[in-house]
Amino acid sequence: MKKLAFDTKLVHADRKINKPQFGAVHESTNNSVLFEFEDVQDLVDVFQGKQAGHVYSRSSSSSAVALQNVLNEMEGGVGAVVFATGMAAISSTFLSLLKSGDHIVVSQYLFGNTRSFMSTIEGFGIRVSYVDVTDVSKVEAACNADTKMVFCESIANPVTQVADLSGIGNWCEANNILFALDNTMTPSVLLDAKAVKASLLLTSLTKYIGGHGNVLGGVLVDTGLFDWSRYNNIELNYRVADKQQWGLTQVKKRGLRDMGATLAPQSAHLVSIGLETLTMRLRKTCANAQALAKYLSTHKGVNAVHYPGLEAHPQHERAKTLFKRGFGGILSVELSEEIEPHAFLNALSLVISATHLGDTRTLALPAASTIFYENGPEERAKMGIADSLIRISVGIEDIEDILADFDQAFISMLSK
Ligand code: PLP
Repeated sequence: MKKLAFDTKLVHADRKINKPQFGAVHESTNNSVLFEFEDVQDLVDVFQGKQAGHVYSRSSSSSAVALQNVLNEMEGGVGAVVFATGMAAISSTFLSLLKSGDHIVVSQYLFGNTRSFMSTIEGFGIRVSYVDVTDVSKVEAACNADTKMVFCESIANPVTQVADLSGIGNWCEANNILFALDNTMTPSVLLDAKAVKASLLLTSLTKYIGGHGNVLGGVLVDTGLFDWSRYNNIELNYRVADKQQWGLTQVKKRGLRDMGATLAPQSAHLVSIGLETLTMRLRKTCANAQALAKYLSTHKGVNAVHYPGLEAHPQHERAKTLFKRGFGGILSVELSEEIEPHAFLNALSLVISATHLGDTRTLALPAASTIFYENGPEERAKMGIADSLIRISVGIEDIEDILADFDQAFISMLSK
């Protein structure tokens, strides 16, 4: 596979790496929960990790492994594990690798459900510091001797703050701290996460990778940059064989076998189909988002637009060096006082009011009263989320239709 360029790999990886039976171009969806062994010794050996294979599909299945292989190839990692959802990937990774008494530093701009999960683990005795990750000095100042991990998103959702990924990567490397990056907004088509020294990549497959609003999934990729032999939370049972696999082994055993956050075989197949067109969709999405952001930034019905592709964005220069093919598909907008956000969303006719992102269709929602509702006004203020903020996930429609829909909605609101 090494000789093929990235987009070619996306299309051919399943057949080249997994070599499906009968010359099929897709790994088949294998729904068997149990697996038969003619010699019970083979069953025992697979159980004990002495032989490769599957014993029970909560722990592994050929469909999940085929998708893992392709995603790992895409990110250039040393291994991957897929989960039922993006949140299952995040929660399984944290609950498997951290324990009571540990300290972690996380972004103060986290996606609402991830932020809420942080409160859950605080209840289990993990100490969490929330910092402005656009400034690496804030991350450095928050770390202490117990700090096990720094966690942030590449582009925060919904206000699009761009973390100082290179600064955080260098700091974590120098201090032997895990750098876990939620790469949902910028899969490897846009960001080379190894270049910024991320140790673990967490990505919701439900978003750009699946891409069509028809399947949930999540993945953890180990980039191979972290030295697990220096991580004292790895159980003795999992400190065996190749030390690059210790972290993933523990996450698989705990997250899949013990907690059951497993991706269904049919879902693995749907994700792998979405993956084939990822680059094409992201290119169109980014181009549309850039054009929509430009249009909104000069509209009299708009007070502010947040999009890293705009020169006025506070981290625009950083975003230019990090993101290879565009600035992502998420932007958010603060409407002017005379426009009531809910009425504006109701006036859009092509754009769908829905809580999802990374879809082929353009979606919009009022962020403060939906996904960030539980966070309360104080928390939202720290995250930069105004009450009037509308999050837009830009799709792959023809841009003139997206612009025309916003235009007619503005005209109907401003003429009242
Ligand atoms: N991470 C980010 C940045 C997200 O935006 C989301 C969902 O919107 C998730 C994780 C969770 O993904 P899922 O819906 O697949 O659980």
